[in-house]
Amino acid sequence: MSRFFSEKYAALTPYVPGEQPRDMQYLKLNTNESPYPPIPAVVEAAREEATRANLYSDPTAFALRQALAARYDVSPDEVIAVNGSDEALNFAFMAFCDAAHPAVFPDITYGFYPVFARLCGVPYEEIPLREDFTLDPEEYIRRPGKTVFLANPNAPTGIFLPLAQVERIVRADPDRVIIVDEAYVDFGGESAIKLIPQYPNLLVVRTYSKSRSLAGARLGFAVGQASLIADLETIRYSTNPYNVNRMTLAMGAASLAHDDVNRQRCRTVAEVRDRTAAEMRSLGFDVTDSSANFLFARHPAVDGESLYRKLRQRGILVRHFTLPRIRDYNRITVGTAEQMKTFTAAVREILEEST
Ligand code: PMP
Repeated sequence: MSRFFSEKYAALTPYVPGEQPRDMQYLKLNTNESPYPPIPAVVEAAREEATRANLYSDPTAFALRQALAARYDVSPDEVIAVNGSDEALNFAFMAFCDAAHPAVFPDITYGFYPVFARLCGVPYEEIPLREDFTLDPEEYIRRPGKTVFLANPNAPTGIFLPLAQVERIVRADPDRVIIVDEAYVDFGGESAIKLIPQYPNLLVVRTYSKSRSLAGARLGFAVGQASLIADLETIRYSTNPYNVNRMTLAMGAASLAHDDVNRQRCRTVAEVRDRTAAEMRSLGFDVTDSSANFLFARHPAVDGESLYRKLRQRGILVRHFTLPRIRDYNRITVGTAEQMKTFTAAVREILEEST
């Protein structure tokens, strides 16, 4: 830290993204990326748009917002386009949390939430999930006035909270905002977007990183009633009006034009996930019931960190967390059927060595 760093950030511990090592070619099952490259028409759209990179991108993201609005059956003023859904989450912490509206979220969830809270200088409370990692809606219902952040399906557990339970939390207090982070909903579960017409206090955050193979392009969006979206636009225009670059805007629109391909890919990932989970259970793993594009698992015979290390030695990267409650577990991104065969074969070998 330099002596110039503002005191208000001195204690900040930044978010640590999944490792991206360059020492060798790994089978990367650690950052929940899509195993498929973007659709060729989407790549072509970026190439074509790059010829106009001397011009700023459209600060209103008009064409993309129209396409998103049509796709999700809302109006364009109910959609904001962002540079990866992390940006929408950051904006939401800035816009909807303060000393009078502290943030609340589960103890086991997306690790960026506490980082954003500290960055924005807002108090926050982490509410323990139940023993089996399911969420008790009552915990949030009995905390009126607090801004709720829920990843649904949750990360890194993959567990989906049924929409009726989400709705109970939203309905319980119309005077606070509920942010539902649906980064993984395209792989299972049900979107809360359909509840938006009834609830002015509901914001749904989505990403095209995983389900549309655009992690590196950085494209996310948020949907909510126009007044909530207007607040996020105020923050966006006060930080970076050209937040989504023109290549990415074009890729998003092209991706929506070929959405049947994306959706088929998501179905395939979900099938491979369920087959892999069944195989892992037959090998003795305890696997949570995932609706996402990853599995969360532990084995009684090999601790989480050893499994992570032994897989790494075999060229396979998974995500291991050091948080005490989940350190027995690893989070494994679901790749292609072929990649998951490589993964389960390595796991079998490791288990034979360890038992
Ligand atoms: N929410 C959750 C729950 C995530 O796991 C991630 C991915 N790290 C994000 C949001 C952010 O995704 P992106 O910024 O790539 O849209």
